Amino acid sequence: MAGDLEIHEQVIVLPAGLPAMGAQAAVKQASGGVTHEYGPRVIIAAVPSAASASPQQLAPSATMADESAALPGREREDPDDVGAVGLAAFGMRTSEEYRQAKANRPHAEQPWDAEGLQQPCLHDDAGGPHAAPSDAGAPPLSARLTGRVAVGIIIVEGPTNALRFSDAERTKVVAEVQNGLTWLGSQSSPAGVSWVYDIRVVRLNVQPGPANQTSEQKEQRWRDPAMAQLGFGAGMAGVTAYVEQLRTSRGTDWAYCAFFTKYPLGHFAYASLGGPRLVMHYDNDGWGPDNIDRVFAHETGHIFNAPDEYQSSGCHCGGQYGVFNVPNTNCETCAPGGGVPCIMKANTWAMCAYTPYHLGFPQGQRYSGVFLAGTGSHGLWVNADWNHFVAKWNEWNNQGLRLEDLEISQPGGQLRYSGVFRQGTGGYGLWALADWNSFAAKWNEWSGQGLRLVDLEVTLVNNQLRYSGVFRAGSGGYGLWADADWNSFVAKWNEWSAQGLRLVDLTAMQVNGQVRYSGVFRQGTGGYGLWALADWNSFVAKWNEWNAQGLRLVDLEITKVGNDTRYSGVFRAGAGGYGLWVNADWSSFLNKWNEWNAQGLRLVNFDVSLTGIEAAASPIREAMAAAGADGAEGYGVLSLAADALDGQATGAGFGAVSMTGAPTEAASTEGGGMGAVSLDGEPAPSTEVTSNGFGAVSLTAGGVGTEATGPGQGSATMPTSAVAGEEETGAGFGGLVHG
Ligand SMILES: [Zn+2]
Ligand SMILES: [Zn+2]
Repeated sequence: MAGDLEIHEQVIVLPAGLPAMGAQAAVKQASGGVTHEYGPRVIIAAVPSAASASPQQLAPSATMADESAALPGREREDPDDVGAVGLAAFGMRTSEEYRQAKANRPHAEQPWDAEGLQQPCLHDDAGGPHAAPSDAGAPPLSARLTGRVAVGIIIVEGPTNALRFSDAERTKVVAEVQNGLTWLGSQSSPAGVSWVYDIRVVRLNVQPGPANQTSEQKEQRWRDPAMAQLGFGAGMAGVTAYVEQLRTSRGTDWAYCAFFTKYPLGHFAYASLGGPRLVMHYDNDGWGPDNIDRVFAHETGHIFNAPDEYQSSGCHCGGQYGVFNVPNTNCETCAPGGGVPCIMKANTWAMCAYTPYHLGFPQGQRYSGVFLAGTGSHGLWVNADWNHFVAKWNEWNNQGLRLEDLEISQPGGQLRYSGVFRQGTGGYGLWALADWNSFAAKWNEWSGQGLRLVDLEVTLVNNQLRYSGVFRAGSGGYGLWADADWNSFVAKWNEWSAQGLRLVDLTAMQVNGQVRYSGVFRQGTGGYGLWALADWNSFVAKWNEWNAQGLRLVDLEITKVGNDTRYSGVFRAGAGGYGLWVNADWSSFLNKWNEWNAQGLRLVNFDVSLTGIEAAASPIREAMAAAGADGAEGYGVLSLAADALDGQATGAGFGAVSMTGAPTEAASTEGGGMGAVSLDGEPAPSTEVTSNGFGAVSLTAGGVGTEATGPGQGSATMPTSAVAGEEETGAGFGGLVHG
């Protein structure tokens, strides 16, 4: 561990002459987290202790160590100027002295506007010359904090001892930046961020100006001559030109620069919102040099569009920040209880739920699955765009699999498709993102051709409900009831259950602040249950109780209600082993999938949830275009004969398939997930119940008494002919056909 971060970092020195990008990419792949690149040879990388492939394996000629001092002497020798500084900085961060300083940092956890301290701020730039966009139309230099980011560190010294930095102070600056950016980049888990450095020391023969200069005049006095020494023009245009060149020469996604100086400043730390530069005084005011790391992380937040959250910044809970246009909801002034700890609010290693969206981090995903006793081939393919998903669907259909469950998520506003596949035969169909009328028409058409809807997915696109469905060869009665409130839905569930249908798939989503339910029904017998919107503990308790009574969970629905995660489940009569694993990261989920598959379970239902807030902004604007959708008609392919379909595969998506039921290769286990399993049908260990949820169950398949206070609307047609899907305002719409 380096500094005060609970992150395992290693120093890696690549041999001279290695193609830098290839080796760095290999290290990045093995790291999976934050990396710092100092010149072509020195890399500091966060390396999970249980990485599936170590950087050493991927770059066998590299030299690695937990501390710079542990490197062989040859590797510590100056590989290049920037590399040497990076090594020295990591050496400082792993020293006992540095750890002690971090353990005793002044004013830890205090808000940035704590009494008696000058707060780091960007106010002086608002509307001033620095805030002006560099070039209208020029690509932004720091639109979001993703991928590889070039960081130019420029230490500006003056002619007197008071304006100079010692060697130790220069190393300290780089070490503090390293510590701050390891933490900041690690917040974008699991993607991480790669920081790529340029480090310059400029010595000027310029005296400080009079004390009554404006903040801008103070900066200009040393900035313009410093940029001139580096070969760039005056003003912010010169800084922007330097940062642009940095991005081009380092081949990074984004770039910014940071000036460190002892010249007098208007504020001891400030940045332009959206870049290209931040400025810090080495003394860091009352916070002191041992807090440069956190102030630097805070100011870098501004570079990537995150607003201040401390009260005296004048923040308010509205506005739209970053690529996701998310308001500043954790602003101390208006957030309940003053909000939660966050680097944009206080001197802390913490981040609220909103800042990741302001920074434009890639949205993380969590995976949940329902497992039941089963055999045979099976597959899971997740996070593909439409073209790739269809290509996989075609490929696996041809190999004797059938899609059973479809999940559509919108990470970063992009539509992504995931699917659970099981061994199967016969006709199949997939129809995605249709409006209700179009979907109902397709449902009627395909139902008449011997298919049955087995899975429904409802997605909010441009604030409009879109329906997607998985169809399989089938017969018998079937029903579809969509967009109903709870009472209306339960009334329909009771009515149709009594008529020999069973709910097989449930969708629960928040629409305009109200939870709406949609359900797929198929002809069936036996006990059945429905439990909705429970918290995790309550849901697991119900799951255990009903499993013990001869029911099995067949469909899990995870719904965000406000800030809470709620679980809803469809239960049907069943026997044999069962499992439930929720909220796991990908590698953890994949491990569980492999483990349980080998024990005779099969995934039957799958959920993807985005971490953090996703509701506030959901930038769906480009989503339709990105997915290749054309209007509201929806798009899809159908093969009744199970013959091959066209589909081009050019990339994306990740997943695993086992054609024989044997385990596939497991990735490393990391992160959590929670769940319980009973392989013999005995009750799984129960967890504590803290709240309720609501629902009903019929173990004998008789009618269930439930109060239905809302009238509900819709239509059901009992004869064997197809009905038109008729839309009605209010409580839901749908059609029913008995085959
Ligand atoms: Zn600030
Ligand atoms: Zn925050």
